[in-house]
Amino acid sequence: MRADRRIARVIVDVPSKETDRPFDYEVPDSLLADTEIGSRVKVPFGPRTVMGYVVDLTTALSASLTRLKAIIDVLDVTPPLTPELVRLAFWLSEVYLCRKITALHAMVPAVLKGRYHRMLRVHPHAPPATALPDAERQLIERIESKQEVPLSQALTWPGVNRTIIRRLIREKRLLLVEHVGDRATLRTVTWVKPALSSDELSRCLADIPARSVRQRAVLEQFIHHPEEIPLPDLLTRAGTTRSVVGKLVEKGWLTWEEREVYRDPYGEHAFEHKPPLPLTDQQQQALDTILSALNSNKERTILLHGVTGSGKTEVYLQAIDATIRQGKQAIVLVPEISLTPQMVKRFKERFGSEVAVLHSGLSDGERYDEWRKIRSGEVRVAIGARSAIFAPFEQLGLIIIDEEHESSYKQEEQPKYHARDVALWRAREHGATVVLGSATPAVESYFLARTGVYEWVTLPQRVNNRPFPTVDVVDMREELRQGNRSLFSRKLRTSLTLCVERGEQAVLLLNRRGYSTFVLCRDCGEAMTCPHCDISLTYHQTNRTLRCHYCGYATQVPSTCPACGGTHIRYFGTGTQRVEEELARLFPGIRVIRMDVDTTNRKGAHERLLKAFGSGQADVLLGTQMIAKGLDFPRVTLVGVIAADTSLYLPDFRAAERTFQLLMQVSGRAGRHQLPGRVVIQTYNPEHYSVDLAARYQVESFYRQECRLRKQHRYPPFCGLFTVLLTHPDRALLMRSAHLAANRLQQDRLPGVEVLGPVPAPIPRLKDRYRMQVMVKYNVETDSVADLMHRLRELEDILDDPRLKWSVDRDGRID
Ligand code: ADP
Ligand code: ZN
Repeated sequence: MRADRRIARVIVDVPSKETDRPFDYEVPDSLLADTEIGSRVKVPFGPRTVMGYVVDLTTALSASLTRLKAIIDVLDVTPPLTPELVRLAFWLSEVYLCRKITALHAMVPAVLKGRYHRMLRVHPHAPPATALPDAERQLIERIESKQEVPLSQALTWPGVNRTIIRRLIREKRLLLVEHVGDRATLRTVTWVKPALSSDELSRCLADIPARSVRQRAVLEQFIHHPEEIPLPDLLTRAGTTRSVVGKLVEKGWLTWEEREVYRDPYGEHAFEHKPPLPLTDQQQQALDTILSALNSNKERTILLHGVTGSGKTEVYLQAIDATIRQGKQAIVLVPEISLTPQMVKRFKERFGSEVAVLHSGLSDGERYDEWRKIRSGEVRVAIGARSAIFAPFEQLGLIIIDEEHESSYKQEEQPKYHARDVALWRAREHGATVVLGSATPAVESYFLARTGVYEWVTLPQRVNNRPFPTVDVVDMREELRQGNRSLFSRKLRTSLTLCVERGEQAVLLLNRRGYSTFVLCRDCGEAMTCPHCDISLTYHQTNRTLRCHYCGYATQVPSTCPACGGTHIRYFGTGTQRVEEELARLFPGIRVIRMDVDTTNRKGAHERLLKAFGSGQADVLLGTQMIAKGLDFPRVTLVGVIAADTSLYLPDFRAAERTFQLLMQVSGRAGRHQLPGRVVIQTYNPEHYSVDLAARYQVESFYRQECRLRKQHRYPPFCGLFTVLLTHPDRALLMRSAHLAANRLQQDRLPGVEVLGPVPAPIPRLKDRYRMQVMVKYNVETDSVADLMHRLRELEDILDDPRLKWSVDRDGRID
């Protein structure tokens, strides 16, 4: 008898308050070798079998183990998580107030997340179904005839919905069983090779009758080329089928074997190796700062503040190269929309097969394959959007966050983490260097660099010394006064005409955040709103529908007003479709490519449209924010911003910052090459500092002004911020809970803590749920934070209402 036994502490995939802690399981001898910290395991939990992650391993005396259940299986050969990532998950759940299982799940590819096949069966003790309505009786009969049916499939049958199924389960007529998904699917390819020598094969050939042409062809192939070959290639070469090859394998003349392959989304492109460029003095200085940080093996953060086109990417590439030569690994984060094939190409040309790319355009399988190359250490560079920050490298030396100010680095669902904060945490663990790159850094990063918390290097000039384009700000109120009711000012109109006449290209940006094309009855003033959300519906011209961009509700445009019966329905707002129409009207024959959510929602559409524009198939690229970044087309000489101020009045303390950043980014799109550029910004607020200073490239002044205002109104970086969002289908019950939450947070007035609200959220109702929020400001340096966190966690007990949903969003620096 062994005196002590292995115990695994497991976080189970059951997201609830009670299960948000490790549970102990015994590790059976048969699984001892496979169970590690970070392993995914299958364990019994109450009456179910669930997936879980091993977060710790200990030993215990066998005497104390009598009641402990054992792990059923270990799901992966290599644990998907490293001990470091397990610790990171605990930290995430701590600082962002989410469940541990949610944090753990966020770090693994989708195919590894607990996949439960929910199956419906008829309950073994079901009462007779004769008394039931037809639809329900048929449902039960259908399930019975198949024994087991996936829940998702049953839900597609006519007349079946969740409510019915839930009731039938409660009535013990149906049973819901869950199977835990097993090992994730790997893609394999069959390789074939001869089992005999060429001479022996020639003798075999003589035994094959002449009419078996295809068998002969396969043998001949191997007589001439005895090397191993993938089955698909063999089939094409010998013009044969799998079963023919199978016969030869049966005879013992050939052998075949399944081998795992990676689905390589870039497989078809060949990348030519490109050597490093000789750096400019500025770039060299920036690189030297990064190298000295890398060599220190200490956690260091560097803000690389460089204008667009200043050669930041080249600096990144050379810093990565140094990291690899140190035997370490690098993560490069770029915003999803900048993760273009052009961008990937630059990395692949430098580092070839050392690079794994993770982006949302990949299928789950492709993504999993890229991730495995990281986990196995096959690649040493991971480039991807936000979640690539969890790349399971074990010797992390460098983390680069390009366009570090981008709001997409913050995840809007649980865990609501900011990739920058995660990067800083991982850098501490590894003694790694973090490089934050941007032409327009986040106000927080700027402030931290200014005050010496981060190191700071700047690249103030473009590599090719191209001047920045001239910027004209047009006051649209003045246009109106002059009788111009068009979306285009006279200046933008003339500039566009000239641009097209010269055979050059233009980019038109419609800053549509907070905008919508809404539909209004002119008789009663009623706007068409979503019946489930307090949001006006957006008009889509292509199929004449009104859609809710939040819940997906769609309806035909009414010919009469639902409120008053009037017939004067009018379309307002400035959607991309409307701009496109107006372009066609003002500039007959002009060729326009439109990029917005409607034209880019299909896979590959984004890339295709950009390619078409790049090859000169259009004069104008018209789009939303998504066109503001990364694009680099030599023939673009004009950038027009249709309305700069649509983002200015959003209820967000970052509204001015976002506007400034957007305007600076889009100006960077013009005149990047030989042809000089021009920018026209149309606005109703030409005097607003974010518009005015962006137009004059007064970057320093903008940051100084913005910091002054943030300090005055107490916003990050001058405080930390939590927003508690509560939602409920019942308005009165929501109010009650929101007040309870606010009162608890306010109790005894913690020093430096300020509680604002509850107030209705910016979108007061969404998908039939009312929404309120409580905002909490606190001083980052004080001890109140721990107390505050404790109270936020306590809300779970205070807000005890099963229909209430609430979450906490953290903003500002985490220490
Ligand atoms: P950023 O990332 O700051 O926008 P890039 O790295 O994309 O800038 O550089 C802009 C352009 O200048 C690219 O076409 C790049 O190939 C080129 N470039 C960058 N560094 C150098 C250099 N040292 N010598 C010559 N060309 C360079
Ligand atoms: Zn809606």
